[in-house]
Amino acid sequence: MPKLYIETVGCQMNMLDSELVVASLRQDGYELTATAADADTILFNTCSVRQHAEDKIYSALGRLKNAKRGNPDKVIGVLGCMAQKDQGLIFKRAPYVDFVVGPGQLHQVPALVREARINRGQRMEVSLGRTDGSRHEIERSHESFDPLRDPAMRPTPYQAYVRIMIGCDKFCTYCIVPSVRGPEQSRPPAAILAEARQLAGEGCLEITLLGQTVNSYKYREGDRTWRLSDLLEALHEIEGLRRIKFVTNYPKDMTDDLLAAVRDLPKCSKYLHVPVQSGSNAVLKRMKRGYTIEDYREMLARTYDSIPGVAVTSDFIVGFCGETEADFEQSVELVCGSRFKNSFIFKYSERPGTKGAELYADDVPDDTKRRRNNELLEVQNEICEADNQAFLGREVTVLVEGRSKASEKHGEDGDRMQLTRRTNCDRIVVFEGNRRQIGQFLPIVIYDANAHTLFGEIVTQHVGPEVFSLTLPVKIGLR
Ligand code: SAM
Ligand code: SF4
Repeated sequence: MPKLYIETVGCQMNMLDSELVVASLRQDGYELTATAADADTILFNTCSVRQHAEDKIYSALGRLKNAKRGNPDKVIGVLGCMAQKDQGLIFKRAPYVDFVVGPGQLHQVPALVREARINRGQRMEVSLGRTDGSRHEIERSHESFDPLRDPAMRPTPYQAYVRIMIGCDKFCTYCIVPSVRGPEQSRPPAAILAEARQLAGEGCLEITLLGQTVNSYKYREGDRTWRLSDLLEALHEIEGLRRIKFVTNYPKDMTDDLLAAVRDLPKCSKYLHVPVQSGSNAVLKRMKRGYTIEDYREMLARTYDSIPGVAVTSDFIVGFCGETEADFEQSVELVCGSRFKNSFIFKYSERPGTKGAELYADDVPDDTKRRRNNELLEVQNEICEADNQAFLGREVTVLVEGRSKASEKHGEDGDRMQLTRRTNCDRIVVFEGNRRQIGQFLPIVIYDANAHTLFGEIVTQHVGPEVFSLTLPVKIGLR
C-alpha cells in the first residue's frame, strides 16, 4: 500500500479539506503514515492568513530537499491557501515540489498524485484571481470540495465539520481570505442536509457548520431564501444528531431570527464566535469591518439578552496599521466589559495583495505588538478564570470526545483515563472516566477550574430499591 503523509496548518476549513483529501486518496489505496520519511506522497495543506503560517511551510519544504534528491519517486504537493496565493513562487523556492493546488481545485488531487507517480514534471491547478474574469467565471473556478465522508478520517467519529459556504465577500483590509478562497458561495440546503444525514447515520453526534462568515449564509431556491436559521431548524430534525455548532459569525449579520433559533433549538450549542477585531472605531474603519464599536456592543447586548447562558468568543488583531496606545486601550476596555468566554488574539501580519498592505504602513513595531498581545491576553485570562469559577459545584453535560492532552502525554493506555470534552457552551472539561464512555453524553459535576479548563467528576446514578426492611433479615438471623 502506498503511504501518505499530510501536514495541515490553519483553520477548521483546512482541517476539513485535509480530511476529505485523505479520504479520496484512501479510495486510491493510500494509507496514512505519521512521518514524512516513511511516505511515498507528502502533502502540505497550507494557510496564508499570517506570515508565520507560510514560513512554517516553506521551512518544512526546505527540509525535504534532500529526501527528494535521495528518492525522486517521492511525490510532494502543496495545497490550500498559500498554494493559491504564491502559485509559481512555490516552484521557484522549492523546485522539487510536484504540484501546487488551490483550495478551489482540491478535487484534482487524486489525479495529480497518480500522474506525478508516472510522469516527472510540475503541475499547477489554481482558481482565478478576484479580478481575472466575470463574477460567474471566478465563482465556477472555486469549486466547493464535498466528496463522500469517511468517518475513519476524523480525529473522532462522533464529531464532524460540514461546509455550508465557501469564500468571502467582506474584504476586510488586513485579510487575504477573499483573494485565496474566492467569492462567497452558499451550498444548496439539500446537499448540506444529505451530508448531515449521512454523518448522523454513521454515528456522528455533533456537527459544526463552517463558513468564513457562516451567518451570512443565504441560498435562493425558487421563491424561498434559506437563511442560517432555516438551515438550523432543518438540521435539528435529523435523528441521531445531538449537537449543532457553527463558526465564524460576522457581527453585522447576527440577526434576531438566528439568535431565536439558537435559543429555541435544544440541539444548538449556546456558543457563538463573533470576532470584533478591535475596540477602536478608527481602527475598525481602517480595517473596513463595516460596523462601529457601538453596533458591536448593541449586537452583544442583544445576544446576551436573547439567549440565557450563551458564551461568546471573539478575535482581536493588535498592532494593526496606525493603532495608537489609546486605540489599544479601547480593545482592553471592550474585553473588560464584554465577558467573552475567550478571545483569540493575533499580532497584525501584513499580507501582500490586501488593501491594508496597499493603503497603510505596517507601522507598529513588533515589540509593541507583542506587548499588546500579552496585555490583552492577560486581561482576557483573568475574565476566563473568574467566569470558570462560577461553574464550581454546577452540573454540565458533555459529549465525551476522547483522552485529555495530559492523558495522551502520559501514555495512559488502560480502560481508566482522563477524558475531555466541551460543554454545550463550549467550555473544556476534563474528568476521570472509562475508555468506553468516549462518544457518550455524560453529566459532570465541576469541582475545580482555571482560566481554560473545568475539572469535574462524572455524576453516577445508583439504581435499585431505595428502602430495605430490616425486620425480616434480623428475624432470620435470630433463628
Ligand atoms: N472569517 C472569520 C472572521 O471574519 O472572523 C475569520 C477568518 S481569519 C482566518 C481568522 C482570524 O485571523 C481573524 O478573525 C483575524 O482575527 C485573524 N487575521 C486575519 N488576517 C490577519 C492578519 N493579516 N494578521 C493577523 N491576524 C489576522
Ligand atoms: Fe477575512 Fe473579513 Fe472575510 Fe473574515 S470576514 S474571512 S476577516 S475578509
